[in-house]
Amino acid sequence: MTVITRFAPSPTGFLHIGGARTALFNYLFARRHNGKYVLRIEDTDRQRSTEKAVEAIINGLDWLELSGDEQPVFQYSRQERHKQIVNTLLEQGKAYKCYCSADELEEMRALARREGKTALYDRRWREKDPSTAPCNIDPVVRLKSPLKGSTTIDDLVQGRVEVKNEQLDDFVILRADGTPTYMLSVVVDDHDMKISHVIRGDDHLNNAFRQYQLYVAMNWPSPKFAHIPLIHGQDGTKLSKRHGALGIDAYRDQGYLPEALCNYLLRLGWGHENEDIIIRKKAIGLFDISAVGKSPSRFDIKKLDNINATYMREMSETQLFHLLETHLCKNLNMILDPIRLERLKRGLSGLKVRAKNINELAANAMIYIVSPPINTDEKADSILSKDARQLIRGLLEPFNELTNWNKTKIEETLKNFATNNDTKFGSVAQPLRAALTGTTSSPDIFEVIEILGKEEVLQRIEAVC
Ligand code: GLU
Repeated sequence: MTVITRFAPSPTGFLHIGGARTALFNYLFARRHNGKYVLRIEDTDRQRSTEKAVEAIINGLDWLELSGDEQPVFQYSRQERHKQIVNTLLEQGKAYKCYCSADELEEMRALARREGKTALYDRRWREKDPSTAPCNIDPVVRLKSPLKGSTTIDDLVQGRVEVKNEQLDDFVILRADGTPTYMLSVVVDDHDMKISHVIRGDDHLNNAFRQYQLYVAMNWPSPKFAHIPLIHGQDGTKLSKRHGALGIDAYRDQGYLPEALCNYLLRLGWGHENEDIIIRKKAIGLFDISAVGKSPSRFDIKKLDNINATYMREMSETQLFHLLETHLCKNLNMILDPIRLERLKRGLSGLKVRAKNINELAANAMIYIVSPPINTDEKADSILSKDARQLIRGLLEPFNELTNWNKTKIEETLKNFATNNDTKFGSVAQPLRAALTGTTSSPDIFEVIEILGKEEVLQRIEAVC
């Protein structure tokens, strides 16, 4: 069997963390089995679907390198085909027109509620003679669901799940305005697109029982289902913005790396020998949908930060430098001269170990970019007392005289300076760091001094002390 999976978002909102994970699982499953992974935009809800959301979904998937293997299918464009299947079902007596008024449906709902039934519609038009139909009501079309027995789905994640057919409604497949419903369209599309595995959130499990009836009615083979648990927040409730669950674009804007985000999403619900870092290539070789846990996973931003920091440390410096430069120039509109670019290049290894994401890296990199006088933060300010400033001024001379401007010589100069002034090394290094970087934490101070260069260091000291 050729494996074909699909990610089928409704463009009624942006691509969020949960959707991205569903896309990733579909992608990995397809790759693992040398299959195909496609994108279907379910834009049949014309009121709530927006162009902007379609764009955000496509861009988000591109950024995560989870674009489909083919051009996306837009569900709305297949409406005629969906209607055609409704007609087929009507012709074969497997569906029927229902002329209930809104009031009648409301009465039925109230009765079902009183009797504690899940099936709301009493199937009154299932066997009724259509010639008795009222002429002032546009009918909906309903599927004749089985009345007896039960429906079983062997879900690849949930295991064997069963529902009594009496709990299933004769659900609507064509609305009164002539538009096909989601329940119908999804089945027709999955069939026509030869989807072999439907991998999606477990909020769709109930739909699967209904959709299964359509496969039976049409005599189509049903795809295999895998309903993956939703992602919850740290407090165990459904993930929302409150938990930091933002659109994928927000993670990009915060400086997360797409490969790190995917790695994190993969680990939410699936794992291999407790390894946190699983690069995509390895994931493709190992991914097993049936090993996805049944219980919801909890979104943990700290873990995402750790994974992101690891990817940043391990990626090639050329690549990381490119990301930093792009961020500074494109996002922050900076124009960097060759001197500053060179400083950044040399300082990158010291900077990258102190940052969790590209934005933090860029913020830390400012020590190599700003021009004197340097702005000092509150902590740095408190270290730079009058006495401390005076002490640091005393460094102008030995630094000026230093001919070999390298870390070792700089360290030697500072140590001698501390001894000559009868003070501890820390009492020199701390205010010096504050004066040169405007902060109290930076990469190794000797390295910073070497990279800034003699002229810049002297200017920065002059300006602050
Ligand atoms: N369009 C549905 C959604 O965004 C998903 C449908 C499906 O995967 O079957 O929730």
